[in-house]
Amino acid sequence: MTASYEARGSVGLISLNNPPVNGLGLATREDICLHLDTALNDASIKVVVLVGAGKSFSGGADIKEFGTPKALQQPNLLGVIETIERFAKPVVAAIHGLAMGGGLELALGCHYRVALSGTNIAMPEVKLGLIPGAGGTQRLPRAIGVQYALEMIVSGASEKSDSLVQIEGQKLFDQLFKSKSVEDFVQDACTYANSVSLARPLPKLRDNASRGGQDEAQLTGLFQGVRDKLAQSARHFPAPLKCVDAVEKTLNATFEQGMLYEREVFLSLMQTPECKALRHLFSAQRNCSKIDDVPAVTPLRLVKTVAIIGAGTMGSGISMNFLNALLPTTIIDTNSQALDRARSLIIKNYESQIAKGKLSEADFKKRIACLRTSIDFGDIQTADLVLEAVFEQMSVKEEVFKKIDALAKPGAILATNTSTLDINTIASFTSRPQDVVGLHFFSPANIMKLLEVVRAEKTALDVLATVMDLSKSIQKTAVVAGVCDGFIGNRMLEQYVRQAFFLVEEGCSPHQVDQAIERFGFAMGPFRMYDLAGNDIGWAIRKRRYLEKPEIKYSKIADLICEHGRMGQKTNAGWYDYLPGQRKAIVSPLVETLIDTFRKEKGVVPRSISDQEICDRLLFALINEGAYILEEGIAARAGDIDVIYTTGYGFPTHTGGPMHYANHLGLQAVVKRMQEFAKNPVDGEAFWRPAPLIQRLCASGENFQ
Ligand code: NAD
Repeated sequence: MTASYEARGSVGLISLNNPPVNGLGLATREDICLHLDTALNDASIKVVVLVGAGKSFSGGADIKEFGTPKALQQPNLLGVIETIERFAKPVVAAIHGLAMGGGLELALGCHYRVALSGTNIAMPEVKLGLIPGAGGTQRLPRAIGVQYALEMIVSGASEKSDSLVQIEGQKLFDQLFKSKSVEDFVQDACTYANSVSLARPLPKLRDNASRGGQDEAQLTGLFQGVRDKLAQSARHFPAPLKCVDAVEKTLNATFEQGMLYEREVFLSLMQTPECKALRHLFSAQRNCSKIDDVPAVTPLRLVKTVAIIGAGTMGSGISMNFLNALLPTTIIDTNSQALDRARSLIIKNYESQIAKGKLSEADFKKRIACLRTSIDFGDIQTADLVLEAVFEQMSVKEEVFKKIDALAKPGAILATNTSTLDINTIASFTSRPQDVVGLHFFSPANIMKLLEVVRAEKTALDVLATVMDLSKSIQKTAVVAGVCDGFIGNRMLEQYVRQAFFLVEEGCSPHQVDQAIERFGFAMGPFRMYDLAGNDIGWAIRKRRYLEKPEIKYSKIADLICEHGRMGQKTNAGWYDYLPGQRKAIVSPLVETLIDTFRKEKGVVPRSISDQEICDRLLFALINEGAYILEEGIAARAGDIDVIYTTGYGFPTHTGGPMHYANHLGLQAVVKRMQEFAKNPVDGEAFWRPAPLIQRLCASGENFQ
């Protein structure tokens, strides 16, 4: 059963029991109603207490049910809440751990609510492109006032029960307990329930919402201010503005009218592509930590100490992740100045967090106490994880991995942060290739959430299980990739950037390309991105490609920019001009002239290219390479690719990532468009061969999975 029942004296105790977060799927809703009936029909029961078994009260609706008939099937959540509101005996919600979304709405329908100190409370529906759909927009403002409710519902952010209970005049919690354990809390809740068992109040959260002492003009200003803030993003994210409209109903409409409005909006948002995309990403993010042949019960290796080799850009950024998790970390480099630079950079980063109020002085001290720097390789001997971030040259990696192999303790995990080199080859430099894995962090490594875990041919299952687990403690979103040039993210990016260069060769300005894809929703267009990363990085890769894969064609326009020393922001000149110390990209007349001359020399007559063509070519280049990656098993699921792109490459979340976007457009439409592009004289035919997987899926009418 997904909810259990127990009579404790005159209390009927219903425990939601649907791990991991007591989701309110159909079975749970049915069980709640069944137990309510039992409590109703037992004359000795005077009051009902609703609790969550395990770590939380409830994480809310079961999102797997969304969009399926089960979500609406009676008793739906609204129906359960109504039953509780009308219930003849008082019902007390006893909330611990977390109460989110539907879980909070369920609690709001109860006659009394008590909470354990430290409980997380949120209405996160907006993050899935929705508004709360079971009375949340109507009851929460009545419980904590419109201003606080508006903030919570529009942001989806979580608040602690302790701060909510401080709100003046709040009706959310009747009592906050500081019980020592969850068991004690349940007992405290039952004692509280007995004290109110004689009074079943009328539903408390149906009057007009609390104005929090604000007059009409102040409230108008409040709502307008929030609407103004949301206006720009509303094109891609319609739900937050709808939350504002719904909350406003608590002031200017009856409870019943507000409920009807909320339901209507909830159901219509559910059908929007944005909501489907965000729900897809939510599930994809949960799934990407699963590896088919690594059972959940795989024993983990213990990682208590870390050694990072290489104190450069990546080494220092990566170290901060382990320091944040208070894991003793030693950075090792042959260059003592690099070590000093790394230490001061880390301290500077922490100091800026302190200045912003994001880190306390005490936590800073704890973190920095975990940091050691050393020029002695012997210091890796005690490390459970040795992570290499030295120069990107196979000969350097060989020298370093041979040293690591000689010194690291047996069973230590040996990781490399290489972005392009073959990890099977790197593993072969050691006598223990089963311990070698790729941990591809993204720059700045202390900030970027994405981590590609690269599984080499011989990587042991427990190594994989351990690094996936470790990624959670350092708060990264880890996705597994197979070994290939560029892994998942950068391999796809190469095709995207090749198209960007072709587009400029054919007639676009870099600015036009950036603007078009930024309007689509990308955080940054390819030319601004290259200027930020450094044009020399791509140049070095292309030079290698010209030798290794001469059949792959690149527009030489990018090389020309580099030959003029325009490496990007770091040289104040790249595809754009930059004022010293500033990041604002300024269209460069010199680059325009360079491009013009380049086209003339090649005999290219520039043509006008629409924004639609720009976006399609950039996006379909990603999608086609993504299909090859899926087919080759480099990525296990299309959703993994979407997580990588939305987490690490600024791909707009409202589209669900490149593979979901392709499914949304329809693969047949994608292939048809590729066939049109194939007619392009600039490398059209070679570039636009639809991957065999897309062709097969098209023929069978299926989608990327
Ligand atoms: P970097 O040049 O900033 O730093 C490299 C450091 O390694 C230097 O401090 C150098 O002194 C040290 N080093 C070189 N040889 C060494 C040796 N034999 N023993 C000990 N230390 C040695 O380089 P980076 O940008 O930090 O890149 C490091 C690795 O991370 C590369 O493999 C790179 O491909 C990868 N990577 C870089 C990025 C990025 O955006 N910079 C992103 C992902 C991955």
